[in-house]
Amino acid sequence: MKTLNPGSTIGILGGGQLGRMMSIAAAQLGYKCHIYCPDQDNPAEQVSEKATHASYEDFDALEKFAQEVDVVTYEFENIPVITVEALELKTAVFPSSRVLKISQDRLSEKNFLNEIGIATAPYADVSNLNKAKKVLEKISYPAVLKTRRFGYDGKGQAIVKSRKDVERAWKKLASDNIIIEGFIDFDMEISVLAVRGQDGEIKCFEPVENQHKNHILDLSIAPARISGDLRAAAIKEASKIIENIDYVGVLTVEFFISKSEPKLRVNEIAPRVHNSGHWTIEACPASQFEQHIRAICGLPLGDVKFTGQARMTNLIGNDILKLTDLLKEVDASVHHYGKSEIKAGRKMGHVTRLKLHEC
Ligand code: AMP
Repeated sequence: MKTLNPGSTIGILGGGQLGRMMSIAAAQLGYKCHIYCPDQDNPAEQVSEKATHASYEDFDALEKFAQEVDVVTYEFENIPVITVEALELKTAVFPSSRVLKISQDRLSEKNFLNEIGIATAPYADVSNLNKAKKVLEKISYPAVLKTRRFGYDGKGQAIVKSRKDVERAWKKLASDNIIIEGFIDFDMEISVLAVRGQDGEIKCFEPVENQHKNHILDLSIAPARISGDLRAAAIKEASKIIENIDYVGVLTVEFFISKSEPKLRVNEIAPRVHNSGHWTIEACPASQFEQHIRAICGLPLGDVKFTGQARMTNLIGNDILKLTDLLKEVDASVHHYGKSEIKAGRKMGHVTRLKLHEC
């Protein structure tokens, strides 16, 4: 375990809002951040000490970046594994390339989860349309076809309701690396944000309930409105996952909850801080971003306790135009990500509203 002193520099791969909020949390603890991102004018570098603009496969630029930072982390999971492997030869990187590799591929992610006894949707690997048709003969409809890699916010997936939908779905995904999942008729989606320190200590935030619009997270409610038993089971599963991949930092585990057995199934894991954890900024003694910085810098983890109710609403596209009205609300904590251009479906900011129970 190596503790980095305040004044050290954290390298962050990716320049989005998650990197921005990580950099703000790092500054609070006295660290500097250096953003590595191909795009100019990104939300993270606006609040960071330094930025490198280069491709993720520019190995000269990566080497120079590694020399200038004391530890590296990432804020999104679609970074090439080879980039993280190259950086690992030069400096400490958390989470590791092994974890990134598992979580980038829905097949290896599900294999890993099932191997450690965590339930997922039933699934099958299919590499061509004929194989897909054969698998679909054996499982019941509806089913979900998903690309193994680079899917997010519902992109890279298609629902197949009957046999005649298969060809259309296959064409839509335009890939030969597909998995088929059984459709889970879930009642609720929740996530658990777990954090593991370099000394192996694990903490989990309260499970949070997530509601989506157009496949994009719209509202998170913490704590999730679930029974004590389900809460305990979700925390236990998230802890088991983070323990079994020798992880350092914040890991997000997304679950489906259904009335049928098993009640909890993991949909996916994200090796990073997450949109469904933004409420922790105002609600918890140490936010998800601060916990991640603490873990990768070798510091003790902070407290995750929360006894009230928090509602986090994303400001997507034109929602950001409501900013002035939101700022007039006494109980609203408003975040603007500094993106200059409004686009439909683009996450522009978020607002958290807290109801705290009196101590
Ligand atoms: P994903 O990209 O895997 O996170 O999926 C995006 C959303 O699609 C999830 O949040 C669910 O609402 C829905 N979804 C994904 N997989 C399934 C499934 N096997 N059964 C039912 N709904 C699903």
